[in-house]
Amino acid sequence: MRLVTGSATDVGRVREGNEDGLLVDETMGLVAVADGMGGHQAGEVASATALEALRAAVRSGRPIRDAIVEANEAVYDKAEDNSQLRGMGTTITAGTLATGGTLLIAHVGDSRAYLLRDGELTQITDDHSLVEEMVRDGQLTPEQAAVHPQRSIITRALGIEAEVDVALYPVELRPGDRLLLCSDGLTTMVSADDIAAILRRESHPQRAARQLIDAANEAGGEDNVTAVVVDALDEPSLAVAAAAAELAEPAAEPAVADSDTADQAPPPVARRGRGRRLARLLLWLLPIVLVAAVAFGAIGWYARRTFYVGFDRDRVTVYRGVKGGFLGWDPTIDRRTSLRSKDLTEAQRAAVRDGKQFGSKSSANAYAARLIRDHNRRTPPTTTTTTSTTIAGVPPPTASVP
Ligand code: MN
Repeated sequence: MRLVTGSATDVGRVREGNEDGLLVDETMGLVAVADGMGGHQAGEVASATALEALRAAVRSGRPIRDAIVEANEAVYDKAEDNSQLRGMGTTITAGTLATGGTLLIAHVGDSRAYLLRDGELTQITDDHSLVEEMVRDGQLTPEQAAVHPQRSIITRALGIEAEVDVALYPVELRPGDRLLLCSDGLTTMVSADDIAAILRRESHPQRAARQLIDAANEAGGEDNVTAVVVDALDEPSLAVAAAAAELAEPAAEPAVADSDTADQAPPPVARRGRGRRLARLLLWLLPIVLVAAVAFGAIGWYARRTFYVGFDRDRVTVYRGVKGGFLGWDPTIDRRTSLRSKDLTEAQRAAVRDGKQFGSKSSANAYAARLIRDHNRRTPPTTTTTTSTTIAGVPPPTASVP
């Protein structure tokens, strides 16, 4: 699998500076968008700092989640060191291509990744935004969220806290797939249907990225806007080709061993024999591999569709998976609240310590939301700010929120 990209970023029609940033490195198979925030150009510093740190970490071989954690630290440290930059932060949505054609998307904030496959556009990432959480909790419809005055308030960003929860989405790429990474300046101005229409119509990735920017500006261009379009082509990358060559080598050995008898035979015949042997071996292996893959997938499906609420470093946390893991599938953090064990009643604390299980993400989230509401009800409102999920505003923190 090889990635071919097109990308564009623009200040828009209203803002004075462009605090968005993007990163495209086709040889590393790395793409990213970042949407910075903070007054006095601090947003630009935040997005640029995060993208530089991300590139450096991926180049030195760090997995994408660790690379995002390092990017968070880079922005956080810079904001701590410089009073002009205090409070700055940035979203990040990044993809790295692994061998085997899996694109791993790591995501924090309300920029988005979409996949266009067979003409159909699906959103891969969940927004870490206030309105998105209200939609998940059933307090808003998606239609209400789209026009909500607080729709640009995000609940997770890089640089705001010393630690960050990174959401990961693996995408098994198929040839012909097209991926879009974009900032909210596109998605708040242009509907998903119109985005899909442009991505379907314009085959050239660079022209497609440009047309998306133009569409956002024609719709008013109220925010900085960034689009990275990534096409997956059916060509082996260097790493995949090397792996394939390694695989072919041992299978070729038996053919070399009985080549004494085939000495006079012209080389093409020998090569064909070797190919048949490899084909026979693969045919014999295929059912075993298939059965193992189906079993593995079924176990994973069971382990990954379950959710539970437990503690992570004293914080009430929604986990995906089964507590303690299940046949090698370890639970992962889906969402960590800022509610601490001391904020709970004795009974709630015991339930969370045992890891309260749910059959769906929404019911686990609803339970966590109920714990927060319960706690807010028991404590005076002035002290509850620490219990709501940490909020970082996309508009500069100096701007007042209605
Ligand atoms: Mn934005």
